Amino acid sequence: MRNGAIVMPISRDFNFKTGIFLIVYQTALIPGLIWYFSFFTPSLTLIACMLLLLCTGGFSITAGYHRLFSHKCFKTNPVIESIILFFASTTIQGSALRWCNDHRKHHAYVDTDADPYSINKGFFYAHFFWMLEKQEEIDPRTVRDLMQNRRVMFQHRFDNICMFGSNFLIFLAVGFFLDDFVGAFFIGCWLRLFLQHHTTWFINSLAHTWGTQPFCREHSAVNNFIISLLTFGEGYHNFHHTFANDYRNGVRWYQYDPTKWLIWSLSRLGLARELKRVPKMTIQKKMVLEGKDLLLEQLKQLWYVKKEELEQKIHELAESLIIQISKISELTETYNSLCKKQAEKEVLMQLQYEIKSLNAKICADWRHWSNISGAILKLKPIPA
Ligand SMILES: [Zn+2]
Ligand SMILES: [Zn+2]
Repeated sequence: MRNGAIVMPISRDFNFKTGIFLIVYQTALIPGLIWYFSFFTPSLTLIACMLLLLCTGGFSITAGYHRLFSHKCFKTNPVIESIILFFASTTIQGSALRWCNDHRKHHAYVDTDADPYSINKGFFYAHFFWMLEKQEEIDPRTVRDLMQNRRVMFQHRFDNICMFGSNFLIFLAVGFFLDDFVGAFFIGCWLRLFLQHHTTWFINSLAHTWGTQPFCREHSAVNNFIISLLTFGEGYHNFHHTFANDYRNGVRWYQYDPTKWLIWSLSRLGLARELKRVPKMTIQKKMVLEGKDLLLEQLKQLWYVKKEELEQKIHELAESLIIQISKISELTETYNSLCKKQAEKEVLMQLQYEIKSLNAKICADWRHWSNISGAILKLKPIPA
């Protein structure tokens, strides 16, 4: 955890409407649930309904508000956009326009005073207290593209009706189908809202404090598998802050990022298109540069007889990897453009061969790099 993580300054005026709602509904939840469980037992179907609504709301935020509207990582059709806006409204996190305005500022000014939920103002500030402050006006320069979207603007204009209306519809639907209006209110709406809020808020707090930084250490965002479990795959936040336009947060196929799998599945069904991916080589290059700095820093703190030799090795290997990665990117680009121009088969085969050999060399050097990194990071620092 970062130092000073429990500081919670509130500098601007109190945001009366949002503040009172958030404080009252959360404070009243515990006595409310004690009363509910004293007289009722939720059915398994009711719990399943709540989990389903948690997923629809959660994915609408992660795939919708976040990766679609804030970062434009993919495109979709107006029907899917409308479904996203409806279910995102059930999570009571404000309109897409307001959410994206704050989120784009968070990326542009991360960890500074201009970051609306800067972790440098404390863990609990980033998690919750920032919402109690009066919000700045939406900046049209930040969300100009979204202001052209009629569905987004409709939801923004009627945000309170959308948020409370969608929840009222859920209450009626769950209550009617399960013949349990009390359960629909306490479990389907109230408890679900609480869980929904905190799983989203963890991205601003935990995902900026607890985890590793394999891609970049210039911002506070971290990667953490456990946070991903709680946030529909948003826990690979270090990758996300480094390559914000990629539709994936968990960039490796096995990393738990159900939002990425959902977007990919939608694209297979023809419901999402133009999924943005940062090229693998760009990611590897960034990891080498970041790893090099980390290893050299680590070496400075170590007592080790062959230190100079190791430093030299790190420099050489990193440089060789960067050159090879740049070369393979160039070759791939040339190959693709020649394919489009229908170049001679022999030229293409020669290029294919060069790409394949270079790829094998990169893989071997990459393994070597990983072994050296692992070994150095295990070494003990100089005893005090
Ligand atoms: Zn983001
Ligand atoms: Zn962040």
